[in-house]
Amino acid sequence: MPALLSTVSERLAPPTRHALLCALALAFAAPAAPARQQPLGWSLHEFGERLLAESAARGVERETTKDLRDHLAPLHERVRVGAFELWLPAKGVDATGAWSPARELRGSERLVVGLARLQALWLPRIEGSASANSAQLGTELERWAAQWRPGRKPANAEREAALHDALFEHLHGRPRADAAYPHIVCLAPSRAQLCAIAGAEVALRPNESQWISVSWLSHCREFIVPGALAVVSLVSVATDTPALEMRDELLGADTVLENLVHNASHLLSAARHTGAPRWWKESLAIYDTLRLVASEDSLCSGAGESSESSKLGALSQWMFVLSRHKSRYRGRGVEGFFVAELRRALRPEGFELLDLDTNRPALVVPTPHLGQEAEIPASVAKASATVRKAYAEHLRAYPVAFLSFLDRPAASGPSRLESISRELARLSAEERTRNVTLYRVVDTLTGRTLGESNSPTSDLEGEFLAWLAGR
Ligand SMILES: [Zn+2]
Repeated sequence: MPALLSTVSERLAPPTRHALLCALALAFAAPAAPARQQPLGWSLHEFGERLLAESAARGVERETTKDLRDHLAPLHERVRVGAFELWLPAKGVDATGAWSPARELRGSERLVVGLARLQALWLPRIEGSASANSAQLGTELERWAAQWRPGRKPANAEREAALHDALFEHLHGRPRADAAYPHIVCLAPSRAQLCAIAGAEVALRPNESQWISVSWLSHCREFIVPGALAVVSLVSVATDTPALEMRDELLGADTVLENLVHNASHLLSAARHTGAPRWWKESLAIYDTLRLVASEDSLCSGAGESSESSKLGALSQWMFVLSRHKSRYRGRGVEGFFVAELRRALRPEGFELLDLDTNRPALVVPTPHLGQEAEIPASVAKASATVRKAYAEHLRAYPVAFLSFLDRPAASGPSRLESISRELARLSAEERTRNVTLYRVVDTLTGRTLGESNSPTSDLEGEFLAWLAGR
């Protein structure tokens, strides 16, 4: 099968492509059928229009607002979870385009808990773990989430609102204005609903058709509308059915939770780590998901498509859906944040890549990998497709292990991941710089370069490599 992501990325304009591709995770156990000439009775346009008609019937007119959130709000039950809201569908659309009251979602309690735990993880990355207030807030939110049930009336509405407001202020870095939306994760209970939401966005902002299309949508189960919300589907395309038929297959509860945590982490890093390169945000999303769910199977690459800081452009196009399961960095490879697997692959000259088809050693790629000007090694670029995929898998796992190394407890004070994150968050609030900020922050905080050399004393990645090698 051709790389699904390449068909997506080719048609995307660079800024949106960056914001979007990270959110793609594909759910297929088998290759999707090729797109047919005649889509089977559904269209992005039609479903989008039907959603907008539903919101218009509730008084939200497209002439008044082009903000997708305004149109989705009356069709959802909004659950405040700290700096986030989880939007549970109150209305559902089926594959024929008919809307009806949505069935109650099972398992939303776990998703609320997941969102709360993610925020508890992020609080020290923004406020400082020495702040009792921030630790206390995290604990309080987690306690609140553990007791949350659908339809439950708050025991003390005022106190709960104050808790969510405080979380909003900490994580967004500003107090909540009355009309301001928090970070939103919107659940889509069917492929039809995913299609309706995407179609409504295109209807409101025709430019978005640069990245939203029927063929793209038939392959994805979640996406982020930049600056607005993350949409996470509860279903995938039913195995062995044409994607365009929109026959749903319920995703496992763990998979939905993984997708939710991964994308919620993206919402936080997009807002508070604006200066970090793409590999940092991707790895953080994978690291957070592994911390909280202990499994992760996204196609996101730690150094993926259109990385701002590196020239690793083609990478995510190499992350094929099917062969990833042959990678040493899947399945049990996720245990311990890939450290054991990377140690096994480490050679004096770099990391060994296994050909995913033959399982034989194919290449050794030199380090470092994470520098500002990192490029795909020529030996990889001209290697076979299965070796290039192995490289993409390697670069998905490698920065996650690097973050876990930075997040080891310090003798005193915050971990280095927390210190770097805090400085990034502070700079993100002050200035809207991109690209160079992480490298500058590492230089300021540690006096070292990042990804410039293998030296354990003068380069942070070099220190990580020495640690991996047991030196
Ligand atoms: Zn991602």
